[in-house]
Amino acid sequence: MDIYERIKNRDPNETEFHQAVFEVVESIKPVLEMHPEFRSANILERIVEPERVIMFRVPWMDDGGDIHVNRGFRIEMNSAIGPYKGGLRFHPSVNLGILKFLAFEQVFKNALTTLPMGGGKGGADFDPKGKSNEEVQRFCQSFMLELARHIGPNTDVPAGDIGVGAREIGYLFGMYKKISNEFTGVLTGKGLNWGGSLIRPEATGYGSVYFAAEMLNARGETLEGRRCLISGSGNVAQYTMEKLIELGGIPVTFSDSNGYIYDEKGVDREKLDFLMELKNIRRGRVREYAEKYSEAVYTPVDPDLKYNPLWDHAAHCAFPSATQNEINGIDAGNLVKNGILVVSEGANMPTTPEGMNIFFDSGILYGPAKAANAGGVSVSGLEMSQNSMRLGWPAEEVDSRLKMIMKNIHKTCLDTAEYYGTPFNYVNGANIAGFVKVAQAMLDQGLV
Ligand code: NDP
Repeated sequence: MDIYERIKNRDPNETEFHQAVFEVVESIKPVLEMHPEFRSANILERIVEPERVIMFRVPWMDDGGDIHVNRGFRIEMNSAIGPYKGGLRFHPSVNLGILKFLAFEQVFKNALTTLPMGGGKGGADFDPKGKSNEEVQRFCQSFMLELARHIGPNTDVPAGDIGVGAREIGYLFGMYKKISNEFTGVLTGKGLNWGGSLIRPEATGYGSVYFAAEMLNARGETLEGRRCLISGSGNVAQYTMEKLIELGGIPVTFSDSNGYIYDEKGVDREKLDFLMELKNIRRGRVREYAEKYSEAVYTPVDPDLKYNPLWDHAAHCAFPSATQNEINGIDAGNLVKNGILVVSEGANMPTTPEGMNIFFDSGILYGPAKAANAGGVSVSGLEMSQNSMRLGWPAEEVDSRLKMIMKNIHKTCLDTAEYYGTPFNYVNGANIAGFVKVAQAMLDQGLV
C-alpha cells in the first residue's frame, strides 16, 4: 500500500490533509527515484506524521455569564530545519484534518523561504465574529493558559491566520508574558511598539503580488493595467490590493463569507482606505462597500450555485485570498475561459485538484500557496531575527528583504521545475525544493 492510501485508511476523515499529501507525493516521485537514501530512511512516512499533536479544552465565559467550551489545537509538524513556525486560526470550521493540512504545507513553505523555521499550525473552532472585545480577550487568555507550556522562542513560535489578527496576537502575547514572566519573541505579528516588525501585516499580500510580478516577468509581462480578481477581504486580501494599486494593477473584486463585490471601475486608494476601516475598525461586512460606492455591485452567496461567480469576470490575474478549496473545477474553467494569465495563491490550498489540473492543461502561470504566500512567514522569520537582536529594521529594509526572498523563491521553483523536466510547473518546483531540503536535514539528524 502506498503512503497516500495508508494515511487515508488511518485517518479517513482528514480530507484536506489527504489532498495536501497527495499533491506533494505526486510531485516528488522523481526525487525518490533519484534519492534511494530518502526511500530507505522512510522519509516520506515520517514527514506525513506530526512530531506532536496537542489538543486541549478552552473554557471561557461570555458577557452574559454563560460558559462555553471550544477545542484548541497545536500541530508541531516538523522541526528538522528550525523551531516550529506557523499561524493560529480561529474559525468555526477548524478541526484536526484542516490544521494538519496547514501544518504539512507550512513545513515545505518555510523551507522555501531559506530561513531556519520548522513547520506548525494551530487554532480553535472559536468564531471571533460577532463577539465583543472582552469575549475575544477572555477566549485568547484561556487559550494561551494551556498553549504557553508548549511554545517558546526557540521551540514553537505561532503567528496569526484566519480570525487571528493584531488584536488577538496582543491578548495572546499579554497572557504568555504573564505566565512565563518573560518578554520574548514567542509570537510574531506583534504590535510595532512591543516587538513587532514593520511590514509584517502587509507581508503575505505584498509577497503574493511580488510573486505574481515575477511569474509575469518570466514571460515578459507586467502587472501594469491588469484587471485583478481578489477573494477575501481580510489581512491578505487588503494588502494584496494595496500593492496591486501601487504597481498599477486594478483590483475589481473582493469578498467575505456572505457575498462579494464587483467594482467595474476598480478599487483605488481611497476606496481601499474605506474598506480597511470597515473591516479592521468597525468589523463590518463587505456589503457596505456597495452602499457607499454606487458603481460597485454586491452579490450575496447563493448556496445552490456549484461555482463562485466572483471567478467569472474577465480579468488577467487572480489572487485567491480567503480560504481552502475556494476555486473548484468550474471556477478554474471560468478563469481560463475569461483570459486569465496568472493565478497567485494568497490563501492556503485555495484550488481543488480538479481546478489545478485545468490550470496545468491551460498553460497559464499558476503560483501555488506554498510559494506565493510565503512572504508572511518570511517576515515573521525576520521579526524573530529582530527580536533576538533586540533591533527594529526600517520598513524599506524589511520590504526589500521580502522582495528579494520572493524573487529567490520564484527562481528556486522555476529552476527546480525545469531541472525535473516540467518547465513552468511551479507546483512541482515548490514541492520538490521544499521536500529535498527538509528530507536532507532529517537524514542528517538520524532517526528522531
Ligand atoms: P482574515 O481572517 O484576515 O480574512 C479571511 C477572509 O476570508 C475574510 O474575508 C473571511 O470572510 C474570508 N473567509 C474565511 N473563511 C471563509 C470561508 N470558509 N468561506 C468564505 N470566505 C471565508 O485571514 P487572512 O487574510 O489572514 O487569511 C486568508 C488566507 O490566507 C487563509 O487561507 C490563510 O491561511 C492564508 N494565509 C494567511 C497568512 C497571514 O499572514 N495572515 C499567511 C499565509 C497564508 P469572513 O469575514 O466572512 O469570515
